[in-house]
Amino acid sequence: MIEAVKGTRDILPAEAGRWQFVEAQAREVFGRYGFREIRTPIFESTELFARGVGEGTDIVAKEMYTFLDRKGRSLTLRPENTAPVARAYLQHGMQRGSDLTRLYYIGPMFRYERPQKGRMRQFAQIGVEALGSEHPAVDAETLHMLAVFLDRLGLGRIELLLNSVGCENCRPAYRELLKAELMPFRDRLDADCQRRLETNPLRVFDCKVPEDQALIAQASPILDHLCADCRRHLDGVRGHLERLGVKYTMAPRLVRGLDYYRRTTFEVTLPTLGAQSALLGGGRYDGLVQELGGPPVPGFGFAVGEDRLVMSLPEERTGGEWSPDAVFVILGEEGVGASLEGAQRLREAGLSVVVEPFPDRSPKAQLRRANDLKAKTAILVGGSEVAGGTLTIKRLGDGLQKTVPAADVVATVREMLHV
Ligand code: AMP
Repeated sequence: MIEAVKGTRDILPAEAGRWQFVEAQAREVFGRYGFREIRTPIFESTELFARGVGEGTDIVAKEMYTFLDRKGRSLTLRPENTAPVARAYLQHGMQRGSDLTRLYYIGPMFRYERPQKGRMRQFAQIGVEALGSEHPAVDAETLHMLAVFLDRLGLGRIELLLNSVGCENCRPAYRELLKAELMPFRDRLDADCQRRLETNPLRVFDCKVPEDQALIAQASPILDHLCADCRRHLDGVRGHLERLGVKYTMAPRLVRGLDYYRRTTFEVTLPTLGAQSALLGGGRYDGLVQELGGPPVPGFGFAVGEDRLVMSLPEERTGGEWSPDAVFVILGEEGVGASLEGAQRLREAGLSVVVEPFPDRSPKAQLRRANDLKAKTAILVGGSEVAGGTLTIKRLGDGLQKTVPAADVVATVREMLHV
């Protein structure tokens, strides 16, 4: 038997309702804040991620699904969607049409990671990008939108962690300071963190080794080394958040894995997720569009892991078990045509109807199937119904049964179901 590839999975109908619920809430809430949907391709030129995400990041260094197409071009299944959205923004000249462009996306991403609960090789993200303004009000309003969205899902206790990672003015000096502080302990860090210390020192804060973390926790946080502009920006974001009633906690050592972040960075964690407690991350990426060859357009965005969102939904948000209003019980081949016709009448009236053409099966077996589907009614079509142009409707809850002219099927089913 061929099975789904490691790190991928099927979302079966019973679960799909939860995904639809989450996506519907996202569309509704984001729409209210002026965000519009963008759908970019699943694969892009490898160069887009190498430049847009950064060669030094784990994503680019070890997690990309990269392949050559038949003409030898290097393509990559998107591991994230901020770089593709920025590419599309530039390619379609969106910066010329508007001062502030607000976009959202929903779709699959691909990373070659070690699969475990809540971590997949194909997973879905719901993300937003606001391009064109560096005003702290954009950060605060977008975070408010995020809080409203998460609140609607009823996820329980969440925590918004906020930080600033500075800008090209203050970060280089801080980077050097951090390096100087940690170099004496270099040999006590694991190989991964040693590499980070050389190539991208801020990323040592992402270190997963507990002993290393204890050392790193003693290093000065960037929050204490912001330039005046970055500090003012952060104060602006915090002021607006407070005014909008968005709760957050400062996390002076929070850095994000991707190179393009500037100033505001944040994460939302959900303790109930366990080891993979990060539900989403995001921030400001004022350098990205320029990195991709465009003008210096500031941006702000986040990406939520949809798989983790769906996992965390409360039980009552199961999306509702689907069940049909009617299932046809067809007794003999001659009943098939009348069943299709009757089903069509009911569907036009907005009811959901199942026709399973097994006319040779016993009525008992077909009724059992209707019960398994939790159908509200069974509609029996046998020889006498076909001869008389009638249908027999049986309410499955209490067995009430009526034979009516086929043309009256909609009215009768509605009456029986009180709809
Ligand atoms: P990132 O793009 O790395 O900032 O990730 C944003 C969010 O996407 C994370 O907080 C997770 O919820 C989700 N995510 C990232 N990688 C995975 C993965 N391999 N499997 C499932 N969810 C993921």
